[in-house]
Amino acid sequence: MKIVVLVKQVPDPNAVRFDPRTGDIQSGTPQVANEYDLHAMEAAIQLKERRDDVELVAVSLGQARETLNRCLAMGADRAVAIEDATLAAGDSTVTARALAALLRAEGFDLLLAGQETSDGGTGTVGPQLAALLDVPVVSNVVALEERDGVFVAQREIEDGRQVLEVTPPAILCALSGLNEPRYPSLKGIMAARRKPTETKTAADLGLSAAEAQARVTWGPLFQEEETAEGIILRDVDADSAVDQLVAFLQERKLI
Ligand SMILES: Cc1cc2nc3c(=O)[nH]c(=O)nc-3n(C[C@H](O)[C@H](O)[C@H](O)COP(=O)(O)OP(=O)(O)OC[C@H]3O[C@@H](n4cnc5c(N)ncnc54)[C@H](O)[C@@H]3O)c2cc1C
Repeated sequence: MKIVVLVKQVPDPNAVRFDPRTGDIQSGTPQVANEYDLHAMEAAIQLKERRDDVELVAVSLGQARETLNRCLAMGADRAVAIEDATLAAGDSTVTARALAALLRAEGFDLLLAGQETSDGGTGTVGPQLAALLDVPVVSNVVALEERDGVFVAQREIEDGRQVLEVTPPAILCALSGLNEPRYPSLKGIMAARRKPTETKTAADLGLSAAEAQARVTWGPLFQEEETAEGIILRDVDADSAVDQLVAFLQERKLI
């Protein structure tokens, strides 16, 4: 059985800072694996641990060597890095097209992705891949097992869980309730050094310039304006406080 896991490297949500002049994310912001993708990776490793015929491949588009190394150290057998400047400003459709081209060549029984990323956050790459590759997709997956070659997935819905069975090939999009991603062990980190990472460009994937061209343009990022400091009335009696509040509101034409 072949399992492919999609992992995106994103700016660390706990450390991200915006450049106030440009609105862009400041250079030097630490990069980490997208959280949901680590849950997808952990689910794949757990499936692999229950069978002895699983090949597990980690795939990323963008500058993601640290993240791919982490996946190899966690237990992936090999990695594929799609690195190409022409895809860097792509929208989620360009991303899905590039990943679909690779996945057509790779083939898979199960494709595990995160539900969404913490940067782009469209939550559309999994469903777009399902449309491009014509395979079923199950979103919001919080539990997964394999029974005789059929994947039984529980997906979170508003009032509970929906249980779905899918036959391979299929795409599942993971939420964090699915499991607790493991930390790579020292043995895993050492073993990862001997595992291969293949690099692909847009041309390797047969993507034309038009297919690598984003149609959605990304506007400037901005930070919410901070609210003005409040006014605290201290040591005043109730009547005076009311008078002051009324005056304050009248002054601003709020009453
Ligand atoms: C600095 C910056 C600039 C950007 N500029 C533009 C722009 O100009 N125009 C525009 O439309 N968009 C832009 N984007 C958005 C970017 O193209 C999307 O982040 C990307 O296409 C993937 O979409 P998403 O993050 O919404 O993925 P989602 O659909 O939220 O991701 C779902 C899952 O798909 C998988 N996945 C997603 N992306 C990848 C990946 N690269 N590699 C491997 N797996 C992946 C992961 O498993 C992920 O959990 C920009 C993003 C950033 C951070």
